[in-house]
Amino acid sequence: MDLERAGRRLNDVLFPPSRCLCCQKKLPLREGLCEECAAELIPLRFSETLPPENVVSAVSAYSYDKTAKALIHAFKYKGWFDLPLRLLLPRLTEELKKAAFPVEAVVPVPTNLPRLYSRGFDHTYLLAKQLGKALGLPVYRRALRRRWHGRRQVGLGAAERKENAVLIYGRGPFPDGVIGKNILLVDDVTTTGSTASACAAVLLTLGAKGVYLGCLAHTPGVS
Ligand SMILES: [Zn+2]
Repeated sequence: MDLERAGRRLNDVLFPPSRCLCCQKKLPLREGLCEECAAELIPLRFSETLPPENVVSAVSAYSYDKTAKALIHAFKYKGWFDLPLRLLLPRLTEELKKAAFPVEAVVPVPTNLPRLYSRGFDHTYLLAKQLGKALGLPVYRRALRRRWHGRRQVGLGAAERKENAVLIYGRGPFPDGVIGKNILLVDDVTTTGSTASACAAVLLTLGAKGVYLGCLAHTPGVS
């Protein structure tokens, strides 16, 4: 083995090439997503996200398909804070700017405490914080809270999700910031919209003027 090859092998051992977060293909640079998977990110048009009940209008950046799913999974469960947001958030920010909702503050859909502790970070808050910064809006993290009762939404049917969501979300310890304001509610993914709808209902009860929704991805055709 010549010196150059030996050097390359050592380099591979010390700095292993990263793999595509979506298809696991090896990548020459630590960029996280291969070109093929990046091309399969499907942007959604404004009209493709129907606002759920209690929400005035909604924007989602991408369709919740293969690549967006893999990126959001990496963000929520694998501890990749930075890359998925770097790839998905700019379009959401741009679309929200285009939509020009008359919003005055950002509120994240609250994460439940056991999941927050097991992950070590609050992913919707992280998202809300970055959006708040980009849009120049304050973020009220604790206007809403996730109650202990209720099951996880994942895996439930539409009717069950709706019932469950109403039980799960409630008034948080610091709700006063939302009074009289139009609120941008932020979530990572919407499927049936039951979570957003339940959170919006609580915000309206707390005195919010109106609730708008922004999320990274949406399953189109489900309402
Ligand atoms: Zn790939």
